[in-house]
Amino acid sequence: MIYNFSAGPAVLPKEVLQQAADEMLDWHGSGMSVMEMSHRGKEFSSIIHAARDDLRELLAIPSNYKILFMQGGGLAENAIVPMNLIGRAGTKPVADFVVTGSWSAKSYKEAQRYGEAHLAATSAADKFRDIPDPANWQLTPNAAYLHICTNETIDGVEYTSPPDVGNATLVADMSSHILSREIDVSRYGVIFGGAQKNIGPAGLTLVVVREDLLGHALSCCPSAFDWKIVADNESMYNTPPTYAIYIAGLVFQWLKKQGGVAAMEARNIAKAELLYGYLDSTDFYANRIAPHCRSRMNVPFFLRDENLNQEFLTGAAEHGLLQLKGHKSVGGMRASIYNAMPLEGVQALVAYLKEFEAKHG
Ligand SMILES: *Cc1c(COP(=O)(O)O)cnc(C)c1O
Repeated sequence: MIYNFSAGPAVLPKEVLQQAADEMLDWHGSGMSVMEMSHRGKEFSSIIHAARDDLRELLAIPSNYKILFMQGGGLAENAIVPMNLIGRAGTKPVADFVVTGSWSAKSYKEAQRYGEAHLAATSAADKFRDIPDPANWQLTPNAAYLHICTNETIDGVEYTSPPDVGNATLVADMSSHILSREIDVSRYGVIFGGAQKNIGPAGLTLVVVREDLLGHALSCCPSAFDWKIVADNESMYNTPPTYAIYIAGLVFQWLKKQGGVAAMEARNIAKAELLYGYLDSTDFYANRIAPHCRSRMNVPFFLRDENLNQEFLTGAAEHGLLQLKGHKSVGGMRASIYNAMPLEGVQALVAYLKEFEAKHG
C-alpha cells in the first residue's frame, strides 16, 4: 500500500482517478476524451455547470458570490487580487496584510508592485509558529482589503475560524485547506486557492468573490484576469483548464458521496488528532506550532536527532510512505494529510514513527 503525503500537487481520491481512467478515451458515449472537447460544446458545458453547482452546495456559497475557474495558481492571484481590488472605489488604495508564514509573506511582497501594501501584523519574530492575536492587528481604516492565508502550507499554521476584523473586506488564500472544514463564506469578500492541494490537478485556480467586489480592476489588469470579465463570461472568456475542471468536478462528486464537508471535517479532525497526539507523546519527535493553530492539513515535524533524517525518509519510502521531506525553508519532515488521505494512511505513518523510534530512541 502506498500513501502519498505530498504537500502539492497532492494525493487524489483513488475512485476519482479510476473513474477518470475509465472515461479517458470516451466520455459518456460522446466518442471524445474530455481533453478533446470544445469548451463551449454541450458536453463540457454540462461538466462545468455540475462542478460549479456542486461546489456551491458543498461550501454553501451564498447566491451573491460568483465562482470563477481561473488559471495562474495561488501565486498569480497574489497579483490578480490587488489588480482587482486595490483601486476599489470608496476605499483607501491600501491593502492590509497579516503575515503568518511563507505564503502570506509572498502575497504581501507581490502586492507592493500594484499599490500600497501595509503589514498589519506578523508572527515572523515567532518563526511563524503562532497567529498574532487579531485584537492587536494594526488595520488601516477603510483599506481596500485585508489579506490572510488561512492555512500556511509550509509552516503548518491554520486559522480555526475567520478573525474578527469588523467590516474590513477579508481576502483569504485557502489553497491548502479549502473543502477540508466548514466555512462561513459570508465572512469573506474573496476566497481563492490553487486546486492542486485539496481539489484536483494543478492548472486550475478557484476564486469565490462577492459580487460588489467585481468591476474595480486597475486598467493594467489583463482582461483574462479581470474578475468581472471572467464572471460575465462564466469563466469562458478564455479557454478554461477544461481537464482540470473535469477532475475537480469528480472530486466534488466524491466529496458529496463522502457526506460533504462536515463529514470530511470529522475525518480530518480524527486524522490530525492521531498524528499530533503521537508526536506530542514522545520527545523523539516534535511539532513546534502553538497547539491552538496547528494545521489539520500540513503537519511539519522534526526528529530530535536530525542526523537521522535521511534514514527516516529512506525507511518511510520502503514502507510506502512517500514525500515526507519538509520544505527546505523549515527543514525536518512534513506530512500533508489532505481530504484524499485516508485514516489508514495516518495510522500507517504513526506505526512507522513508533517503529523508527523503537529502533533509534
Ligand atoms: C501552493 C500554495 C500556493 C501557490 O500555488 P501555485 O499554484 O504554485 O501558484 C499559494 N498559497 C498557498 C497557501 C499554497 O499552499
